[in-house]
Amino acid sequence: MSKPESVKGEECVNYEGNVVTAKSVGDPCNCRFKCLEKITNEQQLEAFERFYNIATKDEQDLYLQGLVHVSSIKTRRPRVQQFRENNKRNSSFKYYVLIATERKMICKKSFLSVYLISNKRLQSIQQLLQAGVTPTDKRGKQEYFNKARVFKGTFKTIQNELLECMLGPYLGKGDKEKSNYVAVIAD
Ligand SMILES: [Zn+2]
Repeated sequence: MSKPESVKGEECVNYEGNVVTAKSVGDPCNCRFKCLEKITNEQQLEAFERFYNIATKDEQDLYLQGLVHVSSIKTRRPRVQQFRENNKRNSSFKYYVLIATERKMICKKSFLSVYLISNKRLQSIQQLLQAGVTPTDKRGKQEYFNKARVFKGTFKTIQNELLECMLGPYLGKGDKEKSNYVAVIAD
């Protein structure tokens, strides 16, 4: 079995034919568990694709909620006080990535990296989890990424697939103009 070559220093071309610098899908977390070393690039991409193909932002957030586990310290205090305590980040979170049907625990940094979401978005998901409510995005419209910031050292095939995946929704709707802005870019 031959591995695809690493694209370190190579370039990747976006839909318009513009050259963008190649980097990898998963930014290494550098934590002691070396989370992303336990998951292949292909698996990372599959996990991302699964998430990315979810139609609306609400549903995406709901999906992510299912991959974040919150454990809060149980007390016998009145509800109001409990709520206040919860707001003081009296919870710990665990993050998982879904590989096929298996959940693998990864660190927060890797979670953000695999699903290409901002820390801000994760924070709001966590707040909703703590409050025990499901996400409702008033806009209710589909949200796609235009740019994926990725890390060097990835395989070219993975990057191209990532690009394809990001282009999918635009091409499917004949929204060709928007697809011109889709790119895999370097940090
Ligand atoms: Zn890690």
